[in-house]
Amino acid sequence: MAAIRSKPAGELALIEQIRRTFTSGKASRHKGVSLGIGDDCAILRPRAGHEIVVTTDFTLENRHFQRSLHPPAAVGHRCLARGLSDLAAMGAKPLAAFLSLALPRQILQTARGRRWIGNFLQGMRALAHQFDTPLAGGDTSESPQDLIFADIILVGTAPRGQSLLRSGAHAGDALYVTGSLGGAQAELSALLKRDRRPRADRSGQHPHLFPQPRLAVGSALLRRHMASAAIDLSDGLSTDLTHLCQSSRLRAEVDAALLPLHPLAARLSSANALTAALNGGEDYELLFAAKPSIRVPSRIADVPITRIGTLFPRNARRPLITLHGSDGSSTELKPGGWEHFAS
Ligand SMILES: [Mg+2]
Repeated sequence: MAAIRSKPAGELALIEQIRRTFTSGKASRHKGVSLGIGDDCAILRPRAGHEIVVTTDFTLENRHFQRSLHPPAAVGHRCLARGLSDLAAMGAKPLAAFLSLALPRQILQTARGRRWIGNFLQGMRALAHQFDTPLAGGDTSESPQDLIFADIILVGTAPRGQSLLRSGAHAGDALYVTGSLGGAQAELSALLKRDRRPRADRSGQHPHLFPQPRLAVGSALLRRHMASAAIDLSDGLSTDLTHLCQSSRLRAEVDAALLPLHPLAARLSSANALTAALNGGEDYELLFAAKPSIRVPSRIADVPITRIGTLFPRNARRPLITLHGSDGSSTELKPGGWEHFAS
């Protein structure tokens, strides 16, 4: 929050509102943050023997959310969830978040706009509180257009040299996913069809609005040396598994019948359910590989774990990913990540 003196009154009030929202309760006191919001820089202090992992994510109105569709608390939640999910994929623990916000003048200056901001910040704070993630700084600006932009930086820590990478898998490793797939896509489709804003609540039936980053699973995988490689499912299984295969120089075979469908996806036709699970994106589950000699439990940190396939050595005559259908068919699975509001 540098250069505070150059800010207009609306932005000063916004900074104060952000500070107040995030400095009450336990998320404000964190052993790893020795200096938080209020100076030119924050000072972070990772534990001895740990290293810093960093991820950044843009949240852009009309690309990642629509003001008419998404409750502001869900926008705030999703903003932070994306970064936390990246930390989970590395097996890292959150240390601090930094939020940069550009808001249209009409949001900064109207009571309705200020309510939007308040609910956005509360949605983010609730998730920050859940995962003990202090907001240690950021920046604000008036948006040059009538559009909201939020950029979040997540800083985490992991034991030195032990972060889970996309590149660590070996031929013969089994592939697993956490939780269930396709729920985010199924909920988004329902929201778009209804074309009205749902009530905000944080229950488990909102995989699109309030996804749960799998931090506890990620750190258990790291601690128990269970995973050889991991990635979070932000763009969809077909795309994220492609990334893992390319990074590890392997190919994969996936069994469609094994994919754990979210209850909301299971209500769709079987073709649409499969598409949601493979290409839906934004489920924020983890995809990981484990050596065949490792016994992976059916639940980790109370989250179901499902084996969905196997990794093999590259073979020029085989596709990067083969999908075995329940009808005995075998097809090439190409990356088909979903882009919500792309024209
Ligand atoms: Mg990721």
